[in-house]
Amino acid sequence: MKISDVTCHVLVADDFDPGLTSSAQDSLLVVVTTDDGVQGYGESDLNPWIGRTCIEAPGTHTMGLGMRELLIGRDPREIESIWNDIYTFTAMNGRRGAVIHALGAVEMALWDIAGKIAGKPVWQLLGTHRDSPVVPYASLQPAGKTFEAYRDALCASAENAKELGFRAVKAECTLAGPFAHDGMDESFDRHTDVVAAVREAIGPEITLMVDVQYLWRDADTAYATVRDWDEYDIYFLETPIWPDFLDEHAKLASRVSFPIASGEWLSTRWEFVELIERGGIGVVQPDVGRVGGISEAKAVCEMAAESGLPVVPHCWKTGISLSATAHLAFVTPGIRFIEYLPPQLCIEKLRRELATEDLEFENGEILPPEKPGLGVDINWDAVKAYGQT
Ligand SMILES: [Mg+2]
Repeated sequence: MKISDVTCHVLVADDFDPGLTSSAQDSLLVVVTTDDGVQGYGESDLNPWIGRTCIEAPGTHTMGLGMRELLIGRDPREIESIWNDIYTFTAMNGRRGAVIHALGAVEMALWDIAGKIAGKPVWQLLGTHRDSPVVPYASLQPAGKTFEAYRDALCASAENAKELGFRAVKAECTLAGPFAHDGMDESFDRHTDVVAAVREAIGPEITLMVDVQYLWRDADTAYATVRDWDEYDIYFLETPIWPDFLDEHAKLASRVSFPIASGEWLSTRWEFVELIERGGIGVVQPDVGRVGGISEAKAVCEMAAESGLPVVPHCWKTGISLSATAHLAFVTPGIRFIEYLPPQLCIEKLRRELATEDLEFENGEILPPEKPGLGVDINWDAVKAYGQT
């Protein structure tokens, strides 16, 4: 069996707004096809035009070969060896960042093929079923251009998530900073007001995570605001500080009682070594596509376990990435929660329309998927409707 084709679909929702802090408005869908007609689907969370180029660009020398060219003709079941070859022979194209993010989508598609060939869900090929349930958290970022509108929409969304049966929610609390949602520029104190309002809305029994999306550059400024957040019983505070400032991460982490979570942008296990060893983080957050694929995310989970740290993977995308994350979680007890963008509570069309995942949600838990591969069905009408040249 050989890989006969690799196709990249650049998808952008027709209502996308570049002023929103939501990367789920686009998608890079990668379809890998074998000579017997088996197709695997993968996805990654990066600018899809850039991702497509990372895969399709032809190579020009031994240290900068083309990813697609390296894939054609290979046996798709040799996932590790293919990954290592691409990592090695595209090194000068980018051994971090976009090329690795794009490789993540390819690798995901290879696992999908492997499962489909074996007639088994991917998690069964990855390891042993964990004893504990896989619990998703509802990742919430409502629309709203003013403080009051944002706060109220977030509270309503959190209450809806609770009614849907979620045991945990994450509030995207980004009313200022480089990635302020929808042009907002509110004071740091108002972030505290939003966290307080969400906690009050959901009550004490629901786990609450907070994401401020790189709001601060240094620990002292961050601490001046979040020192008051103990009373809201935060499970973690996500990306309070720019990811390159690891000493500031460590400084903040040493001063607050709740853990600092980070890692969503990182690629390869090697970037996580630094984050874990120097950054003082308490929760590790690989994104399965961006880190380089399911196996690379698994390696990060193993590293986190060796350091005694829980993992809560990042996933702000469609049912394809969500499925890949869930399959990994079913064999990884260190994954405490998985990020879940509830289609009922989000504005992102691609999340709602692109793919149907084989993930049943019951009593706040996700049941093990049973379909072969990643168990994802693609809506080709959506691919046609949102496909870009
Ligand atoms: Mg985040």
